[in-house]
Amino acid sequence: MVTREKAQPAASERMSLVSPKGGCVDSLRYPDIADLMSRLHFAPGDGRIWLDDQRMLLVHTGSVGVMRRELIESLGIDAARGLLTRMGYNSGARDAELARKVRPDSTITEMFAVGPQLHMLEGMTFVEPVRLEIDVEKGEYYGEFIWKNCAEDEEHIRIYGIGAEPVCWTQIGYASGYTSVFMGRPILYREVECRALGQAQCRIVGKPVEEWGEEAADDLRFMQAQSFTQGLSAGAVKREQSVAVLGDVSAQTPTAFGDANMVGASPGFNAVCHMIRRVASTRATVLFLGESGVGKEVCARTLHRISACSNGPFIAVNCAAIPEALVESELFGVERGGFTDAKQSRPGRFERANGGTLFLDEIGILSLTAQGKLLRALQEGEIERVGDTQTRRVNVRVVAATNLDLKDEIRAGRFREDLYFRLNVFPIRVPSLRERREDLPVLLNHMLHKYRELHQRDVTGFTGRAIDAMLNYGWPGNIREMENLVERGVILAPDGGAIDISHLFTSGETIDAEMFGLGTNGALTPTGSLLDQAAATPDAEIERVARKVNSLLMGISGDIEPTSLDDIETALLKGAVQRAQGNLSAAARTLGITRPQLVYRLKSRGLRV
Ligand SMILES: [Zn+2]
Repeated sequence: MVTREKAQPAASERMSLVSPKGGCVDSLRYPDIADLMSRLHFAPGDGRIWLDDQRMLLVHTGSVGVMRRELIESLGIDAARGLLTRMGYNSGARDAELARKVRPDSTITEMFAVGPQLHMLEGMTFVEPVRLEIDVEKGEYYGEFIWKNCAEDEEHIRIYGIGAEPVCWTQIGYASGYTSVFMGRPILYREVECRALGQAQCRIVGKPVEEWGEEAADDLRFMQAQSFTQGLSAGAVKREQSVAVLGDVSAQTPTAFGDANMVGASPGFNAVCHMIRRVASTRATVLFLGESGVGKEVCARTLHRISACSNGPFIAVNCAAIPEALVESELFGVERGGFTDAKQSRPGRFERANGGTLFLDEIGILSLTAQGKLLRALQEGEIERVGDTQTRRVNVRVVAATNLDLKDEIRAGRFREDLYFRLNVFPIRVPSLRERREDLPVLLNHMLHKYRELHQRDVTGFTGRAIDAMLNYGWPGNIREMENLVERGVILAPDGGAIDISHLFTSGETIDAEMFGLGTNGALTPTGSLLDQAAATPDAEIERVARKVNSLLMGISGDIEPTSLDDIETALLKGAVQRAQGNLSAAARTLGITRPQLVYRLKSRGLRV
């Protein structure tokens, strides 16, 4: 419906956009790309290229083409497409983290333009906007773009010629990853025209996943490595859909990039999915490792669901939640009379899990006696109730989880080494939320739906700065913490409005000061304090100085851009203040000077205090 003016150099390309409210068309330029280019640094002296704080590569499209061909030929076209799509998704998600950081005070469309502009800067394609409607808070998005000079179809066509399917997989992944992270909810792009179909250019359309109907099911498939409904009978699929794991209502929520409970497109998470699928059909004992709150129980349930004993029970025990004195009777049952004061006999969790899976969470804190019994159960397949002399055979697959380093526990004499080896047959490390930030949109969307429904609240979504704050947040409590935050946000946000930072971080979470420099629509910290300044200072600048200093000190050869002592000191001062989140006394202590000395130095550099 719209129209770009004549081609000009990319840096000042004109872009026509539908205004955020929709309807009228206003014409504006792509913002000057200088702000993005200034974050691209070639450091041949130490063999690295940086885009802000991300290390980049300059690779030959020809060699990527070779890899692509090998992927297609060795894995098949579907698997190759999936891999490349997810690779693109990952880099799009990374670039999205730059958008608000680089253009904190711009309009939403200018901020969004970081994506297309970086895509061009990175040499993937020329992006011409056709139509763009964004409302982050309402979660509304429609984007239509034309791609010219795609690096990807060029290579594909060179090798395979014109075909029947669009082929710009990495790029579609990039657009989806970028926009999903920018919007804080899953947005899927499809290539509706592609040069590889014989058309003159490629054309892509992006919409929230829910708005795509059946036609996008195929495209969606490539965002996830493993579908856990694959290979299940129809009944099992139905059962699977009715089993809510993350919570009770999650099964009904629309999901993307995975089923309701195992969602994500990140490589770390996909590796977990892959290993679960691998081991599920065996009888091997599985040990899930990872910080608390990463979803180890969800993984265990999924493992059970797709295993051969999925018709049997799934019994979960949190070893930490049971008083130590009761652990044994809970696990192994108790026999009336004899040595116990039990009024009646009852089976333990082991017996109840017979024919199915027993999930032992926080296994690291089991008492040594209970560990001995557990070892026996694993080795002999039999258990003994407390106060009983009779042994009972059990057929149970044990899946354990811990956030402790069991080797440390062994060294400290708190964990049996023989049990460790018994459990550690197939360890799977579940990544922390920090390691899978590109999954945030999918997870946020999932939780938003879930709690909106649970609490009957009419909350539209998240504000831009809330999304950014969550991207920058460290998530020490992982997915569980995120659930709490989103639930709280859903409750606190105004009806018909969006969840903002103040609705999320209310119980003293330490938020990175950096994000307060954003000020998308109304600055969060209008005080103009040093903190803001430090926040506005790109970390890249500090990092650049750090790299130079490092090269100097470590005697790394090669050309080093000259750095003045002054610059180094400025970077140190800013870094310390940033690290101390604006607490000048703490910053001074880090630097081994007094507070007045710090203030003096800051002022002498024209940095406001
Ligand atoms: Zn294409």
